Amino acid sequence: MLLLAAGTAVALAGCAVAEGDPIESGSAGGLPPLAPPPPLIPPPPGGPKTPIPAATITALPGPGSGMALTVDDGASPEVVGAYIKFARDTGARFTFFVTAYYDSWTIHRDALRPLADSGQIQLANHTWDHPDLTKLAAGAVASQLERAKTFLRNTFGVDGAPYYRPPFGRHNATVDKVAADLGYTVPTMWYGSLSDSGVITEEYLIECARKYFHPQTIIIGHANAPAVTHCYGQLVDIIKERNLSMVTLNDVLLPPR
Ligand SMILES: [Zn+2]
Repeated sequence: MLLLAAGTAVALAGCAVAEGDPIESGSAGGLPPLAPPPPLIPPPPGGPKTPIPAATITALPGPGSGMALTVDDGASPEVVGAYIKFARDTGARFTFFVTAYYDSWTIHRDALRPLADSGQIQLANHTWDHPDLTKLAAGAVASQLERAKTFLRNTFGVDGAPYYRPPFGRHNATVDKVAADLGYTVPTMWYGSLSDSGVITEEYLIECARKYFHPQTIIIGHANAPAVTHCYGQLVDIIKERNLSMVTLNDVLLPPR
């Protein structure tokens, strides 16, 4: 399987640059008016979920037409809000890896909570404030994940377990052990990136989507900069052209208890 082979390492060529430093919010000066809503996305086909072990994932195992768009950080309240509107308008399903100290998550709590409750948007742990966990002592790693876990639990009634995403994709056996002890047994990496942790052009973002949107992939994007909010219609077009369905991790995976 091409995907499984590719999944052994995060693709680093072309668009898939590593995550950059989180950028601070409030610098965009307001978004331009949004384009008309993109077309509706078909619901996921359903069917049995695929059991997965307590181990790192970089793709969705097994056959299928699912694509898990995961959206990280949340540095920009405007972009988080645009993603929520995207979900409402189109039925898009995705997984937010929440960096909990950004105020986006509190600002949009009331809009996000019903989508999280219905399962259309899944929430998972991307630490408190996005450090490189491999550079921290075990106690500090635990604190990063615990603080975000408490925030998620108090704000949205879920803690995201067993899925966590280490900032910059950097983790090791020590980090994974600490995470697993907190219930985060599935480090969630990715197959391809929209490369939008910082500011990029819309053309480049679409080029990345065309490169990486394939069946059974996990894709990483970011709620940090506004480019993606101008591209939702084009992203939906690619998804529909390729007969993909947008899925959350919980839609298709059955993790260990
Ligand atoms: Zn991140």
